[in-house]
Amino acid sequence: MKNPLLNTGEIGIFALGGLGEVGKNMYIYEIDDQIFIVDAGILFPDEHLLGIDYVIPDFTYLIENQDRIVGLFITHGHEDHIGSIPYLLKQVEIPKIYASGIAVDLIEYKFMEHADIKVPQIEEYKSYYKYHFKDVEISFIRMNHSIPDMFGIVFRTKEGILFHTGDFKIDLTPVGPPCEFDKLAAIGAEGVLCLCSDSTNAERDELIQSDSKIGKSINELFSRLTGRIIIATFASNMYRIQQIIEAAVLNHRKIAVFGRSMERAIEAGTQTGYIKIPKDTLVSGDQLKRLRPEQVTLLVTGSQGEPLAALSRIASGSHRQVQVMPGDTVIFSSSPIPGNQEGVNRTINKLFKQDVNVITHGPLADTHTSGHGAQNDLKLVLSLTRPKMFIPIHGEYRMLRHHRQLAIDTGVNPDNILIVDNGQVAAVSKNSIRYAGDVPSGEVYIDGTGIGDIGSKVIRERKLLSEEGLFSIILSVDSEHKKLINHPTIISRGFIYMRGNEELTNKLANETKAIVETELNKKFYNEQNIKQTVIDQLSKTIFKLTQRNPLIIPIIVDSKSF
Ligand SMILES: [Zn+2]
Ligand SMILES: [Zn+2]
Repeated sequence: MKNPLLNTGEIGIFALGGLGEVGKNMYIYEIDDQIFIVDAGILFPDEHLLGIDYVIPDFTYLIENQDRIVGLFITHGHEDHIGSIPYLLKQVEIPKIYASGIAVDLIEYKFMEHADIKVPQIEEYKSYYKYHFKDVEISFIRMNHSIPDMFGIVFRTKEGILFHTGDFKIDLTPVGPPCEFDKLAAIGAEGVLCLCSDSTNAERDELIQSDSKIGKSINELFSRLTGRIIIATFASNMYRIQQIIEAAVLNHRKIAVFGRSMERAIEAGTQTGYIKIPKDTLVSGDQLKRLRPEQVTLLVTGSQGEPLAALSRIASGSHRQVQVMPGDTVIFSSSPIPGNQEGVNRTINKLFKQDVNVITHGPLADTHTSGHGAQNDLKLVLSLTRPKMFIPIHGEYRMLRHHRQLAIDTGVNPDNILIVDNGQVAAVSKNSIRYAGDVPSGEVYIDGTGIGDIGSKVIRERKLLSEEGLFSIILSVDSEHKKLINHPTIISRGFIYMRGNEELTNKLANETKAIVETELNKKFYNEQNIKQTVIDQLSKTIFKLTQRNPLIIPIIVDSKSF
């Protein structure tokens, strides 16, 4: 059995998530009858998905082809690469998970939170390990990123070498272990059939600073500040957390940590040795009160203005343990992810109002660098690996498009480059790459209630409610005697303020009354029909009068049933 979209001698490469978006990365390599899964991430939704905690890929293809899955290979421990593992395991049997270093710890934390899943064996790989699955050999290349233990994956197949970069930047003075450039050059010399490479910063033509440089600049900032320092960064950026700890120690400050993901990152980092905290450096919220301002650093979550994160609560005065005071300095060791700027601005405004000094990343203070390589970095990997075929991955369409051009600039034949969307299968053979057709793909929403319970209809309704308000009409009817008992009652929320709008509500109530009476006089009484007619007609009238489209909910109370 193999994928019917593929011909003999063709390898299937596609994504169930990660293309046309930054998030929920999940790439599939189908080699003969074997399915190799690379990563299983989540996407943090933006504001238009109300009440949704995260989005995961649609696993239908994997459910249907479960018996051919060889294993799940994890490139690194970021949420957009490991976040959906528990949900995947609930639906699909995975023989083994292959992960390395800190990713293993972070995955194990997830399993503690989901006690109900059957956990497969996690095989911890090292950069020099090799695994064989029939004719396929898998090996790894260490790359640099904002979290330690990020590995590109090499598939050696009968058709040739495939290389999946994972997330990377080129950092010649990294904080952790160096990138294995020699291995990149070696597979290039041997000949790479197809490269799939990270496109996140493909639009940026600039130098992505080395992480070491950011460490120096944070340290320099710390040495100048005299009040309390509150510093926010991504909990996923293990190197940055370590740099902040070092800066605090060098400047004789204690550290208190606020935010669950940050606490967890520090715990995982300490266990694996990537985070080193001298004894007595960490203090609790209570101990803070006994320290002078110049002895204090607060390391917090909320660098993206997330409303429930520690920094946002501190800024709005609703944090249980921390209140800001004049003289405090808040440092953002981060850049807002597109879409989050507004939330970040809100937090900054609140802080300024309380006379707090705020430092964000910019020309004056180098407090952040990206974990993803810009154009030069991407071109370097293209030049070292010299692929015959190229598929840009990990990015929105315009990023993929820019990455395509970089590949052409470094000498890849444009005919050998394929930009695909989630679910679109690229068929790669020794001599060609083609779009072979589609497998099921899509978005599955997760909120507190579980997998996929939230359909797109619910999301649409929540969106409608938040933007246009709710308009409900209560109708008391006597279906037996075919009459309306009371004048319709109208209740509105977030749509129009009722008082002062009597004219409008009366008009709508009268219109509803007329509709219901006509419907009641029809031969067959059908509650559903009445509701639909009310919705259809009132939405037209309401739009004409107010230019709004509230959610209309007719409620029929039938006295017959009492
Ligand atoms: Zn990453
Ligand atoms: Zn990523």
